[in-house]
Order: sequence, then C-alpha cells, then structure tokens
Amino acid sequence: MQKRIAVVGGGFGGLTAAAYLARQGWKVTLFEKNDQLGGRSRVWKSGDFSFDMGPSWYLMPEVFDQFFADFGVDRRDYYTLYRLDPYYRVFFRPGEYVDISADRAAVEAVFEQLEPDGAAKLRRYLAQAEYKYNVAMQQFLYKEYRSIFQFLNWRLMTEGLKLNVFSRLDGFVERYFKDRRAKQILEYAMVFLGSSPRNAPALYSIMSHVDLNLGVFFPHGGMTSLVAGLARLLQQQGVEVRTAAPVERIVVENGRAAAVEVRGERFPADAVLVNADYAWAETNLLDAGQRSYSQRYWNSRVMAPTMFIVYLGLNRKLPQLVHHNLYFTDPWDDHFAAIFDKPRWPDTFSYYISCASFDDPGVAPREHENLFFLIPVAAGLDDSDQIRRHWYEKVLTHFEQLIGERVRDSIVVERIYSHRDFSADYNAFQGTALGISHTLGQTAVFRPSQRSRKVANLFYSGQYTHPGVGVPMTFIASKVICSAITQEQL
Ligand SMILES: Cc1cc2nc3c(=O)[nH]c(=O)nc-3n(C[C@H](O)[C@H](O)[C@H](O)COP(=O)(O)OP(=O)(O)OC[C@H]3O[C@@H](n4cnc5c(N)ncnc54)[C@H](O)[C@@H]3O)c2cc1C
Repeated sequence: MQKRIAVVGGGFGGLTAAAYLARQGWKVTLFEKNDQLGGRSRVWKSGDFSFDMGPSWYLMPEVFDQFFADFGVDRRDYYTLYRLDPYYRVFFRPGEYVDISADRAAVEAVFEQLEPDGAAKLRRYLAQAEYKYNVAMQQFLYKEYRSIFQFLNWRLMTEGLKLNVFSRLDGFVERYFKDRRAKQILEYAMVFLGSSPRNAPALYSIMSHVDLNLGVFFPHGGMTSLVAGLARLLQQQGVEVRTAAPVERIVVENGRAAAVEVRGERFPADAVLVNADYAWAETNLLDAGQRSYSQRYWNSRVMAPTMFIVYLGLNRKLPQLVHHNLYFTDPWDDHFAAIFDKPRWPDTFSYYISCASFDDPGVAPREHENLFFLIPVAAGLDDSDQIRRHWYEKVLTHFEQLIGERVRDSIVVERIYSHRDFSADYNAFQGTALGISHTLGQTAVFRPSQRSRKVANLFYSGQYTHPGVGVPMTFIASKVICSAITQEQL
C-alpha cells in the first residue's frame, strides 16, 4: 500500500519536499496554516498593487532549473525569467551611487573608480569566490550531515582551509580591498544569510560569485510566479494541498509520528516532514519528551535578523530607482552590532528598497510605483505601534533625503510589517524573518538536524536546516532529506 506522509507548512521547504516525496511514491498531504502557499513568499494585494511580501532576489537560477529537471520537466514551462539590468544600484549618500550590472567591464570600472587597482582585485576576488562556490556545490551543500565526524573529515580539513571555512569574511575581504564602499558591495549579501561580515565564515564570499558572476534574475509576474509554478507541479505530482489548515499537534505513538491533528481532526501518517518554523514546531507540536532540542538550545542560538518592512504604493514614478536598490550607511558596524551584539533598534541603518514596478508592469497601475523598504533588525525586539510609526517616519525621511525628493504626498497604499506579523502569520520564533544565522557554529552539521533525534519518522526541511537561509537553499535541503527518507525502511 502507498505510504502516507504529512508535510507541515507550504513555504518553499514544504512545497519542494512535497513534490519530491510524491515523485518518490509517497501519498503526500501538505497542510498550510495560511490561505496562500509560499510561506514568506506570499503576495499582498491592495487595489491594483501587488506586493511580493518576502523574497525578491532570484539568485542561483541553476538550482531552480535542476529542481524542475528532477521531475523531467522544464522550468520555462512553469514560469519565465529575465535578467535584471542593472542587477542593483548601491547608494552611499545622496547623489552618490554605483550600478552593478551584467556588463563585467562596467563593474570593473566601478571598482577601479572606488579603489586603485580595483578591477584586477575584483577579478582575483571573484576567481576565488567561483572556486569556492563550485566546491561547495559539489561537496558540501547537497549533503546531509549526521555526525560531526562526517563534517570534520579529512577533505573538509584540507579543503576547509582553502575554502576559508575557519576565517571571517570581513578580514578576508580586507585582504583584497581597503575602500569601504568596495568592501560593502562584497559583504552586503551576508544579510541574506542572516549574518554579519564579522561573524560569517569567509566561505560565504561565494555570495559574490552568486550575484556578480551568476547574475540577478526575476520571474515574470514576480516571485509569486515561482510559487504558482510549484503549486502546479504539486498538482501534477498528485499532492493533496490543504490551505487554511494549521497543524496543532504531531501525534507520537511508540516513538513514531502516527498522525497530525488539524483543527481537532486527525490525519494518520506513516511519516511527517515539518517545514513550519523549527523552533516553534518542536516546542508547540510535540510533547517535551519528544523534542530534539531544549528551550535553552533555542534561546542560545544566534538568531538571524528579522525585517522591518514598509510596503508603499506611489501615484507617480521615481526615476532615481532601479529594481533593486541598496543604501549602505557609513560605518555600518553599529547596525550589525544592534542586530547581533546588543539587540536594539539601530541608531544608523542600511536598508534595501525594492522597486518591482521599475521593470514589472503587472505590480502597479500605470505611472505608479510599487516599493518596499526593508531594514534588517534584531529578532525579539518590541515592535509597538508607536515604534513602528517612529521607524516609518525615520525611513521615509532618510529616503527622501537620499533621492532628493519628497514622496510622502504621493503615497496611495501603505503597510508596515514587522516582528509580530512574522509571528502571527508564520509562527516565527521571536518574530524572525530568516530563522537562525549562518555563523560557523551554526553551519552544516551544527544547524538543527533534518531528522528528529527522538521520533524515528519525523523530518525537517526549510531555512533552519542545512544548507540554510534563502530560497535556493530550501530547495537543496528538500532534495537531500527527501531522498534520504525514501531510501529508509520507515
Ligand atoms: C522579507 C524577506 C525577504 C527575503 N528576501 C530573500 C531574497 O531576496 N532571496 C532569497 O533567496 N531569500 C530571501 N529571503 C529568505 C527566504 O524567503 C526564506 O529563507 C525562505 O522563503 C524560507 O522558506 P521556508 O520554507 O523555510 O519557511 P517559510 O516560508 O516560513 O514556510 C513555512 C510555512 O509553514 C507554515 N506554518 C507555520 N506553522 C504551521 C502550522 N502549525 N501548520 C501548517 N503550516 C504552518 C507557515 O505559514 C509557512 O507558510 C527573504 C525572507 C524574508 C522574510
């Protein structure tokens, strides 16, 4: 008889796992608490504006293409992509910005202008990033780590030094570049991983290969097209999808998951895979004796930042912006310290501005602008209405100075989204946007395990697990754990 598996959560971790498991012969039911799939990648519509609420950088396209190829289909039949031009714009102060694009000569000219010999240094930096990326993809990312010995093996000890697993990114970049702006361009992506250049292993210089060499893409119709594509694939694979279906308990009998309970109804299962927030799910869906990790464990994790987000619809265009825009404050250490050292709302801050309407006409009415502002902030902070309003004003004031133009009078749609929304909408531990950070102590085998240590047939996928934070990483995590699940005699 076909074995049944319950997947708890319809974020990318759950959607991709459900697809793989169905392909491998399981009868899969996916339960999602919200009425939309996609998890943090949901859509908020207001009038004719359509906001991608979460991820907006489509990176590492090969991972997505490989995922669809695993099902014998072509990604292009599910959604199409375009390469952004430029990839992104970086503002350093009002009137001072640089564009990073697919045109390598232009990017080298930018670095040459920032620092003597900048073009040659960039070439050297990207060559090592590419080398590390290739080794990481072949050796480390698509792999389940079950013991520390498996991680600290001969290969890692030898390759690990070359890959800079054991040194810090900021010191590593400093070996190549002295200019603050050049360093920021090469380090900013650590925020994508929920880390800071100071606590991330230098291995993560691979992120510069990811954005500068591989490129920055966007699905036609927005990130929601990716979610819709996955939903279609699930349908084709025969997955039963239940939305507005919050799992309230994982029923464990004789050390095995036997069912999930949804609104008091029991759904028997031969195995369970959890994609919901790991910390929350362990603590809330299992009895104390069935949990792999204690509350102390979760409280002592280095949490990735969460996000203070403002979605804005404007009734006119802003020619100063491109699709992805970043502002880096100088110096930016205080902002990182306010996230990782002494959690507090920062005094000075860097931020990201998405302007999807720059090249996607479907997300805003004609001659309007669809913006969202995103400021990484520490998880677990108080975000009262008063604080939100204060920050809303602060960000807008800064932005108006940055682009040299008033925008307040042009706002026709607005929404603030922060800690308590992440908790309410996704059961996010401490209101986190990204789960746990990518420090060395929280990399590979040191991330929460994809298998329960107490319940034989209970598994996990999603950003808490190896390889970690970011949409492509959740695809990889699912591929790894699903083939392991199927190979086992459960
Ligand atoms: C604002 C923002 C911007 C980002 N930008 C980028 C980017 O540009 N590029 C990139 O690659 N990554 C980005 N990320 C990171 C990326 O979005 C995440 O790493 C990834 O989407 C996490 O997917 P997941 O499946 O692990 O978790 P989630 O998306 O959180 O999915 C978990 C799902 O479980 C559901 N759930 C929770 N409890 C229950 C329950 N009891 N029963 C049933 N369902 C439940 C939740 O509702 C949710 O749908 C961003 C994240 C955020 C928040």
